[in-house]
Amino acid sequence: MGIDTFIKSLKELNIELSEGQIEKFDEYFHILVEGNEVMNLTTITDYDEVLLKHYIDSLAVNKAIEEVDNWNLNKKIKVIDIGTGAGFPGIPLKIVYDNLEVVLLDSLNKKVKFLDEVIKKLELLNITAIHGRAEDFAKDPSYRETFDLCVSRAVSNLATLSEYCLPYVKVGGAFISYKSGEIEEELKASEKAIKMLGGNILKVEKMTLPGSTIERSFVVIEKVKNTIGIYPRKSGLPAKEPLK
Ligand code: SAM
Repeated sequence: MGIDTFIKSLKELNIELSEGQIEKFDEYFHILVEGNEVMNLTTITDYDEVLLKHYIDSLAVNKAIEEVDNWNLNKKIKVIDIGTGAGFPGIPLKIVYDNLEVVLLDSLNKKVKFLDEVIKKLELLNITAIHGRAEDFAKDPSYRETFDLCVSRAVSNLATLSEYCLPYVKVGGAFISYKSGEIEEELKASEKAIKMLGGNILKVEKMTLPGSTIERSFVVIEKVKNTIGIYPRKSGLPAKEPLK
């Protein structure tokens, strides 16, 4: 890939990077690789692969939602990334869209400490990393139904993930799940759960990541009704017994 192809590929996603943003992506790569020596952050450490499979992949969501005003990434909206791990997709989104107010959530404290370091070193503002389970923070009134957009990549199946994510989204907002491969069955299996949680599948946007042959699907779920108070169920249950 290389940095020039990276910049060109992002243009296909309607993203123009400034020098400062390019530097931040570079620094993030170095912090990621260093951090990976002391903890398990990612299996992708090759520079070109990080550009494609972490950065471009995280940012490709723009193409799935740019025409929707409520969740337009160029607006000053509130975004939460559930199960962010080493910061994907939340950190790349924040580097490009500085206007976003971002919360990164993960249940592993050492990853959250790593994210605190990334935030500090990249001098990112209006972004916080919090440690806890999605099921628990969703009960907290300062988080519940306060976000315009919830994103999540590689965390769980869609039914479980909807129970983690939809409670964070306010009515009129959206939850977007990053998926790959055949998703028809998973979609079908989660339809009822999504409805029960106040969501509605608006569309599935399939694309090939620019500069590659990698396929990515974005399941775009709009929040049409408040999530009733019993959801999410107690910690662990959404994964053990997905709603159906
Ligand atoms: N989203 C990142 C990415 O795409 O590179 C990380 C994916 S990693 C496979 C899944 C992450 O989800 C892990 O960091 C894990 O700690 C977190 N996770 C799993 N279940 C969770 C839950 N119930 N609440 C919060 N985080 C959770």
